[in-house]
Amino acid sequence: MKLYRTELDKGISKKLFDIDTNQFQLDELNFYEDTIKGELSAERSSNGYHISGTIYIPFEQTCDRCLTNYHNLKNVEFNFWFTDENELLQDDSDDVLYLSKNDDEIDLKTLFRELIFLEEQMKHICSEDCKGLCSNCGTNLNEGNCRCSTEEKDSPWKELKILQGTALNIRRKNGITKS
Ligand SMILES: [Zn+2]
Ligand SMILES: [Zn+2]
Repeated sequence: MKLYRTELDKGISKKLFDIDTNQFQLDELNFYEDTIKGELSAERSSNGYHISGTIYIPFEQTCDRCLTNYHNLKNVEFNFWFTDENELLQDDSDDVLYLSKNDDEIDLKTLFRELIFLEEQMKHICSEDCKGLCSNCGTNLNEGNCRCSTEEKDSPWKELKILQGTALNIRRKNGITKS
């Protein structure tokens, strides 16, 4: 994604662009579409250019809780300032970048790449109320209950366990410990 100084000088308003997702496949990122769509605007300021916009990343991810694949369209906004003024560049912000007076173009490829990788590192949860997998049998609890929880409830041993627990508490209270 290259922007030429001639177009930057004129100013860019909501230009649409595509990033090919195939280039990320080696990095084990998965997408459910072939392109990441984006929109950007640019304006000239006294000390350089301000480029802003949004990219829409069609991630195909695996839920950390239930391990199913799901589609996750992420809208990521970006803001970059390009300048050759040292004072601005010394500012600790990652969004202020160097552009030499001699450069006649800006390549945003690496910047977008970084944005995409940062987003990918976020937690992956298919939905806020994902119930995850049963820690005992591995059933996906979003698709239905497994028998582990019901078996526990109906178990004749459960009441015995409760009795045992009570007995233990009484013994503890009375200062008697198991010999
Ligand atoms: Zn999930
Ligand atoms: Zn289970």
